[in-house]
Amino acid sequence: MKIICIGRNYVEHIEELGNERPEHPIIFMKPDTSLLRNNEPFYYPDFSNDIHHEMEVLVKIKKEGKSIDKEFAKDYYDKVGLGIDFTARDWQTKLKAKGYPWEIAKAFNGAAPISHFISKSDTDVTNINFRLEKNGQEVQNGNTGLMLWPIDEIISYVSKFILLKKGDIIFTGTPKGVGPVDAGDRLVGFLENEKMFDFEIK
Ligand code: ZN
Repeated sequence: MKIICIGRNYVEHIEELGNERPEHPIIFMKPDTSLLRNNEPFYYPDFSNDIHHEMEVLVKIKKEGKSIDKEFAKDYYDKVGLGIDFTARDWQTKLKAKGYPWEIAKAFNGAAPISHFISKSDTDVTNINFRLEKNGQEVQNGNTGLMLWPIDEIISYVSKFILLKKGDIIFTGTPKGVGPVDAGDRLVGFLENEKMFDFEIK
């Protein structure tokens, strides 16, 4: 399986990082070695001093597809979840400034904690409220209705370039409120009122 991530999909997050609003979705990938499941702890890596949380809604692909038309995209996924796109912001900022790929800032071990998945038929995917608490305080909240590119458009766009396969996971971008984590922090994420993950930084 592969993990495809969308960058800059919420206006207020683009503004908080001082980024330009892109013409097309920004795509990058994480390897399967970045996955953390079942509330496994995240071990703070020694190569960074500025790991940020980016909470994102996840989509799980249910069948193979390429060049998927936007109106049929809904047939290619059946589940949604919640995850963290951990980002080594210090590395990303330095690499971006030089115009280099910033893969290393996103693809390191443990950089993709994911929740369990719930059936998309149980929710309106264009209007999901989601939020993140750090040590009991809300630090991020969003609604999928605020995406620049809604889920169906993301699937259509990505599948023009990359064959989507059953089990692939898409990180759909983070809303505003990204910020640092430290050893000892506890991150708890909710889709609507359902607790999706609850894990510690070590
Ligand atoms: Zn992200």
